[in-house]
Formats: sequence, C-alpha cells, structure tokens
Amino acid sequence: MITQKVFLYFPKSETEKPIVYQLVKEYNLVVNIYRAKVTPEEEGYLSLEITGTEEDMERAYSYLNKFEVNIQAGNVGLHWDPEKCAHCGNCIVHCPTGALHYVDKDSRTVDFNEDKCVECLACLPNCPFAACSSAF
Ligand code: SF4
Ligand code: SF4
Repeated sequence: MITQKVFLYFPKSETEKPIVYQLVKEYNLVVNIYRAKVTPEEEGYLSLEITGTEEDMERAYSYLNKFEVNIQAGNVGLHWDPEKCAHCGNCIVHCPTGALHYVDKDSRTVDFNEDKCVECLACLPNCPFAACSSAF
C-alpha cells in the first residue's frame, strides 16, 4: 500500500461529477480529505491524501486524467516561504503535527516538513511575517 498527497483543481465543467466517490468505489482508495472549496465561479479545489495499492493508484490516475482536472502530487495547498520566515517560532505551538518545527533548538532554526502538514491553516494567522500561505 502506498499513500500520496494530491491536490486537485476542478474547472466549472467538472465540479458536479462524483469523482472522489468513484476513487473510493471503483478504485478501492482510502481518501482522507484535508480541505475542499468551491468558489462562487464554481471552480473546485481539493487537497487530499489517498492510500491504495500501486495498481489501484495507477488505475485511479488514468481515470482522473480523463477529466479536465489539474492534478498535482505533494503538498500544494499550503506554502511555506523560507525567504519570508524570520524563525520567530510563533507558529510552532500552533502547528498540531510538527510540520513546522525547530531543526535545531540551539540555533532555533525553523523548517517545514510538508509530509506532516494536514493543511489545518492554523499557522496562517499565527505567522507575523506571512511566511505561510494557502493556495486556495
Ligand atoms: S497548515 Fe497546519 S499542519 Fe500545516 S504547517 Fe500550518 S499549522 Fe502545521
Ligand atoms: S511564525 Fe512565520 S516567521 Fe515565525 S517561525 Fe513560523 S513561519 Fe517563520
């Protein structure tokens, strides 16, 4: 079994199709939705984690590619900008998973582990330097 983070963008033409339902039903994937949003223009954004066998995963990606859905692997929904980060540490106590963490407690250097981020967005209002931002 493998687990992957995926970011999907749905144009208006695709937002009403039961694509995630099919990922579960036809491709046996376990789907953990982090965040979803449909804009007033009816475009859809979805950050999720999918788990399944390599074969089911490949079949599911082939299925997704039949639609006008933009698919990006990895943590795309939350961006941490190391150039803006002042290493003040304010976000660390607000990050529930340790995605934002001290690399080294002596120098108090902060780093971001995107694999641990669940896109709760708690860091956004708690970063005084706007180093964390959301893609949607
Ligand atoms: S979005 Fe949540 S989990 Fe991700 S880095 Fe920010 S506080 Fe941590
Ligand atoms: S609150 Fe912002 S500036 Fe401070 S350590 Fe966290 S990401 Fe960096």
